[in-house]
Amino acid sequence: MNTTSPVIVALDFPSQRETLQLVDQLEPSLCRLKVGKELFTRCGPSLVKQLVDRKFDVFLDLKFHDIPNTVARACSAAADLGVWMLNVHALGGEKMMSAARQALNVQAPAGQQAPLLIAVTWLTSSGQAELDALGIETTPQQMVTRLATMSSNAGLDGIVCSAQEAVQLRKDFNENFLLVTPGIRLAGADTDDQCRVVTPKKAIHDGASYLVIGRPITTATEPCKVLRTIISDII
Ligand code: C5P
Repeated sequence: MNTTSPVIVALDFPSQRETLQLVDQLEPSLCRLKVGKELFTRCGPSLVKQLVDRKFDVFLDLKFHDIPNTVARACSAAADLGVWMLNVHALGGEKMMSAARQALNVQAPAGQQAPLLIAVTWLTSSGQAELDALGIETTPQQMVTRLATMSSNAGLDGIVCSAQEAVQLRKDFNENFLLVTPGIRLAGADTDDQCRVVTPKKAIHDGASYLVIGRPITTATEPCKVLRTIISDII
């Protein structure tokens, strides 16, 4: 671990040039970095390795969801890149998540911690209509709780969730269970396409462990200044 900062900057860029242009302005002591599907598909493992070599904690956000054996092997491949955290889809089921956990534990060198493994529960872009369409008779909140419980039972370190779900989830799970929350905006800032936003201070107060923040930092004229403002807002 290179920092205690709860801020994970989402590198939602289409190229290595744009990514490194931003990363050059950030410091590993102030934030961690998230590499998602777009950037990984375009730039691949070599960019992830570059970020790790620059001493950043990297969250590889590829949301694996497949048969247990395939997901376990994909997680091992991610661990080989030296990432700090990675994730799977809780909808893949407890067996799949246990296989992923097991693969990471077995692979970790003696005395070293395996990468953190978290699960995506019910995507914030999906709501009641999507559950109804699937014929699942429950509410999004119940679905999140059920998938979070499955993740915990499978030995995962935590989940990705909306900051607005954090209060309830923190009541259900102790502080060791990580709640990683996107949809963060500074008070009065542009919400972009996020519908339900929460300030960094409120998210942490409500029980979030890590805040995933993209555009408020990545599109800022002075990204590091915004990052420092966010960190001072939390403290
Ligand atoms: O730019 P912004 O701060 O909205 O970026 C949020 C990041 O968190 C993006 O990478 C987005 O894909 C991710 N995310 C999200 N909502 C979820 C899960 C992930 O916004 N439910």
